[in-house]
Amino acid sequence: MTQAQVDAACGEATSLGKRAIVHAQGPEGARAAVLAGCTSVEHGYRLTDEVLDLMAQHGTYYDPNFGLLLHNYIENKEKFLGIGNFNEEGFEYMQKGIPIGIDTFKRAMNRKIKMVFGTDVGAGGLGRNFEEFIYRIRDGGQPPMEAIISATSRAAESIRMQDKIGTLAPVWKPTSCVWIPRSRSCRNDCFHRWLTAVPDPIDELLKVSSEASCSDVGTENLLILRFIAR
Ligand SMILES: [Zn+2]
Repeated sequence: MTQAQVDAACGEATSLGKRAIVHAQGPEGARAAVLAGCTSVEHGYRLTDEVLDLMAQHGTYYDPNFGLLLHNYIENKEKFLGIGNFNEEGFEYMQKGIPIGIDTFKRAMNRKIKMVFGTDVGAGGLGRNFEEFIYRIRDGGQPPMEAIISATSRAAESIRMQDKIGTLAPVWKPTSCVWIPRSRSCRNDCFHRWLTAVPDPIDELLKVSSEASCSDVGTENLLILRFIAR
């Protein structure tokens, strides 16, 4: 797409009070999106310093899903091979993309670009979305609290819902939560158990570590709650 076309798309969204989210892997698409005033860039594996600087200047949100997406394809290679353009060359390209994505992520962190949390993951990765935290912290060197903020308050801000979700507050109630257990055995069970709102969130929060129905939920695990105003 030309700059004029991206300007038209994002400009129309802005004039209607909407956000515009752009999936761009390389610097050309991301640059056009940033200059057009789009809200956020997804992927962005191969962004140059110039584009990252532009994003910092424009306050563009960045969802650098560099971990689970590629690792999931590679882990499930046998299941994807032969479908569409999933071939040996494609998998080689993805493998080579992993260190490039990590490098871009680190350069974005250095510029304090407003990062949100996402995976863009498809078949094989759904229900494991929290593993992106592991890639970010272990491979990308992101401080754990920064990773949590990117998935909660900053994510809420990026969709203009910061007054309703994404922050712990006594008048708010939890709508869902995600456990990140060291052992992966109970992740889905724990997640679904909390999908329904509880009557007293603060009491529930205090009880969280003791009332676990799974044996490996405890202080070693990380809990992420999504909240919404009552
Ligand atoms: Zn995408």
